[in-house]
This record gives sequence, structure tokens and C-alpha cells, in this order.
Amino acid sequence: MTIAVLRERAIGETRVAATPETVRKFAALGAGVVVEAGAGTAAGIADADFAAAGATLVESAAAAGADIVLGVQGPDPALLSGVAPGAWIVAGLDPFGQRPRIDDYATLGLEALAMEFMPRITRAQSMDILSSQANLAGYKAVLVAANLYGRAFPMMMTAAGTVTAAKAFIMGVGVAGLQAIATARRLGAQVSATDVRSATKEQILSLGAKPIFVEAVAGIEGEGAGGYATEMSPEYQTAQAELVSSHIAKQDIVITTALIPGRAAPRLISDAQIATMRPGSVIYDLAVAQGGNVEGSVADQVVERHGVKIVGYANTPALLPADASALFSRNLYNFLSAFWDKEQGRPVLDEEIGNAIRLTQGGQVVHERLKG
Ligand code: NAD
Repeated sequence: MTIAVLRERAIGETRVAATPETVRKFAALGAGVVVEAGAGTAAGIADADFAAAGATLVESAAAAGADIVLGVQGPDPALLSGVAPGAWIVAGLDPFGQRPRIDDYATLGLEALAMEFMPRITRAQSMDILSSQANLAGYKAVLVAANLYGRAFPMMMTAAGTVTAAKAFIMGVGVAGLQAIATARRLGAQVSATDVRSATKEQILSLGAKPIFVEAVAGIEGEGAGGYATEMSPEYQTAQAELVSSHIAKQDIVITTALIPGRAAPRLISDAQIATMRPGSVIYDLAVAQGGNVEGSVADQVVERHGVKIVGYANTPALLPADASALFSRNLYNFLSAFWDKEQGRPVLDEEIGNAIRLTQGGQVVHERLKG
């Protein structure tokens, strides 16, 4: 059983899908790990560190002979020549955004496993790349916003006068939003937050922030299915827009994280609402890669509208490459090791998780969400 770790090719991708720690753990399971030279450089992991952990370093054709290819993002099919027949591709495959690539994996006879489709069940929590990366993204978004903000976050009483506390508003209180609330609070901001799922109210309060919720129209009861939101009714959207209009003009920092699985991100902030904010305010749109929560946000750019900076980094976890790689790599290891069959010396998936994440098999695209 050979596991290959390729150098990521996507622009701005700094992460790597294995660390010396997971290389050692795979070796303990009996797998050999081949790492492409330079794969860890941007994440602060030298080739020598991988070699010391027992990996074989290769300059090119790293996937040749591999039974499993690990990636942060899906590897270019051109890099996969010579992989073992039916080899697994285990990565964040962006199945809807990178459909042609998924079709190519099928044509090559590979089994593509999309880690972002991991079901939200207790036993898969340690394999959940969306959670591990969203947590870091929520943290980093606040730091980047704080850096671009021309004022301080905490209230400071100095001999020269008082600096007022920044007001931060977090929209979407999932994994990223919760970490954004905690981080903004630690920096000393006054924090408020909103979501469509009523269960988040308690969580917002427990972090010492103020819940700002639509009251006139019912939102999603409790957690929502699998912790996920759905598209809201036009009535709810109108009520939410009114709520945001009345609240946002007083905010200095806004972090938006709202996502709906399999759909474009909901639009939460309009250009007219941005115009009511104080110049110098900062908005960080963590949903920019899914279409954006904020009108005018542009992927991988900081744009200014009405004196407000709108940050749209599409790959925020890549701004923390070392930690993001460490957690991502553990997610992959936790996944493969949980299914490791000692006799066969390789992982064997069960139906529940296998069917949830398997995109291609036997030359076909087999996932329900990608068919038809
Ligand atoms: P997500 O990334 O899909 O969405 C982020 C947040 O945006 C969610 O809280 C969602 O309700 C919110 N949102 C969507 N539309 C909105 C709108 N129009 N206005 C305001 N907010 C909107 O969600 P996530 O961060 O991946 O996780 C959501 C929940 O799932 C969390 O409560 C988390 O604890 C839970 N979860 C459970 C597991 C597990 O059990 N294995 C794993 C991960 C997450």
C-alpha cells in the first residue's frame, strides 16, 4: 500500500495533505508514503522533515504506483499517470466547482473521495475538513480585519483620552462564525452575531456576544438538518434585510460566514447597506468562493466601497498553512485509519461514509448529487 502526497498546484494554496506526524502514523499502519519534493515548503515543512519521518521523497511523478493519492485540493489528472488501477484520490475535491476534473478521474478509473462530503455524524467529526479549516478561517478573518482597520479593537483609557471599543458583527454562526466571535471578543471588541438557526442563540450568548435575530418571521428551529441551513423564504429574507440595515450602520467590523450546502451563498449585505457604514470599517466575506455574502466582494482582493474595505480572500485557511495543514492531514489520517483493514493492509470503507463521499468508481461518476 503506497500513499502519495503531491505538491499542491493551485495558485495561493500553501497547505499540504500530510505532515511528518501523519507520515509516521501511516507507516505504523504498514503503508509506505511517497512525498513530492517541496510539498511542505509553504507550510514550513522541509523535505528533510518528511524524510526523517520515513517518507520517500521524489522529484516528479510522485503518484506513480500509488494506491492512494492525498491532496488538499484535487490533483490535476495529468499528474496521476501511473497510479495503481482503481487508486483512491482523497482530497477536498470541490465536486461542483471542478466537475470536469471529477469526470477525468472517472475516465482514469480512479475512485475519487470528496472529503467535504463527509457526513456530519459523531464518528466522522475527526475526519471533517470543513470544520477544521473553517475554525481557522474564522480566527484569521478577524485578525486580517483587525489589521486593515485603522483603529483599535479594545477600549483603552489613556492619559491622552479614551479609545472606544470596536463593534464587530458576525453573520453566520457555524464553525467559522463561532471562532470569529471568540477571537473578536479576545481582542476586546463588542461583538454581536446572527444566524438563521435558532440553536445558535445560546452559543452566541455563551461566548459573551449579543444575538441579533429576526423575530417577526420564524427561522430554522434548533440546529437545522445536519447543522446546515437551507434557503430562507422571501419573507424571512426581507425581514433579515431590514434587521441588517438597522444594525450594520453602527458596526466597524463585519465577518460573514453564511453558507448553504450545494447552493450559492446567501446575499446578506447590499451595497446600499455598506454605504451606511462608517468609512474605515472592514467587512470580511468568508463566503466569497461560494458567490459571496456581500455585494461587491471580489475573490482574493480587498476592494473599497463607500470608504469600507471588503476583504474577499477565497482561501483563508491557506493564510495559516502550518496549522491548517496539521489539522487537514489529521482529518485524512483519522479517516483512512478508521477504515484500515489489517488483513488486507488497506482501508475498506463502509456504506454510510463510502456512499456519502465517493464521487467516481469503475469508470463512472456514481455520486447522487453529481448525477442528472
Ligand atoms: P456552514 O458553513 O454550512 O454555514 C455557516 C453558518 O451560516 C451556519 O451556521 C448557517 O446556519 C449560517 N447561515 C446560512 N444561511 C444564513 C443566512 N441567510 N443568514 C445567516 N446565517 C446563515 O455551517 P458549519 O459552520 O459547517 O456548521 C453548522 C453547524 O453544524 C454548527 O452548529 C456545527 O456545530 C455543526 N457541525 C456538526 C458536525 C458534526 O456533528 N459532525 C460537524 C461540523 C459542524
